[in-house]
Amino acid sequence: MMKYSDSAFEKADLVIEQRRRKAENDQQNRMLEISKDAPEVEILQRNLRNTGLELVKLIMQGGNDTHFLIEKIKEKNLSTQHTIEELLEAVKGDRHYLDVHYYCEKCKDTGYSEGRRCSCMEDLLRKFTTEELNRNCLIELHDFSEFFLDFYDKSSDGSFSPYEKMRQNLEYCKEYAENFNTKSPSLFFFGKTGLGKTFLSSCIAKAMLEKNVNVAFGSIIDFLRKIENEHFGKEQGDTLNILIDADIVILDDLGSEFLTAFTESALYDIINCRINLSKPTIISTNLSYSELDRKYNERIVSRLTGCFVPLSFVGKDIRHIKMIRNMR
Ligand SMILES: [Zn+2]
Repeated sequence: MMKYSDSAFEKADLVIEQRRRKAENDQQNRMLEISKDAPEVEILQRNLRNTGLELVKLIMQGGNDTHFLIEKIKEKNLSTQHTIEELLEAVKGDRHYLDVHYYCEKCKDTGYSEGRRCSCMEDLLRKFTTEELNRNCLIELHDFSEFFLDFYDKSSDGSFSPYEKMRQNLEYCKEYAENFNTKSPSLFFFGKTGLGKTFLSSCIAKAMLEKNVNVAFGSIIDFLRKIENEHFGKEQGDTLNILIDADIVILDDLGSEFLTAFTESALYDIINCRINLSKPTIISTNLSYSELDRKYNERIVSRLTGCFVPLSFVGKDIRHIKMIRNMR
């Protein structure tokens, strides 16, 4: 069970209350509209309320024919209700026009149903908790349109040129973000530093945020440090579970972290649990496969090589090219 922060609870409560108010306000407005467009509906509704009072009176009085009278009133109510619905159908084309349309019908925008937290509440709690985690992320978010292919060399020595390879990567990532769903594959970005791995990761993260997908995004170093601090009580939070639970997790710069038995097992837990839950993960690294092999235990390497779609980043360090261009 994931631990949520107090502020996540406060924010979720607020959103649910706003949803409920909006649903009730909208219904009030439709009511006003109907009192103009179909005044007879209002009269019928008043009748309904009055028969309700009659019922109460009857029950309190008692008497031999109470049961018979109650049945009669119920019948009358049903037929009034039916008439109202038919009027609404005729005037507005919707027999349920005056119902309150809740954002979540299950809990009627209260956040709780059958004595438990409703799934709409859980979704909000997850969203706000992940948002809080992302807030510590120092990586700047970018848009796909900012990715400049002209930094990559168009000449090739045999197979694809760096330009062509990176054009394919960019297209792949754009489509990935556009068609993202729970069945999307996990991706593994590898290649030397300065070739746009972090940049493309951040583009996907931004696209996910815009789609309202629950995405956690950050550098592996920061996440593992936080998980370790939380584990040893130096910091509050539930980062490990947030990273296991999020719809998509984007982990930047695998290999930069200081590996201990603890961080290695946390890393394995994140990767492995997400694979078992069929949740997509995107990992980028500057390490080559042989360096990965040397640094991590076999369980992690076999997960990365077996369950991720690899995307290789090629070319010359863009930061270097940018610097030279700026000097001219
Ligand atoms: Zn609900």
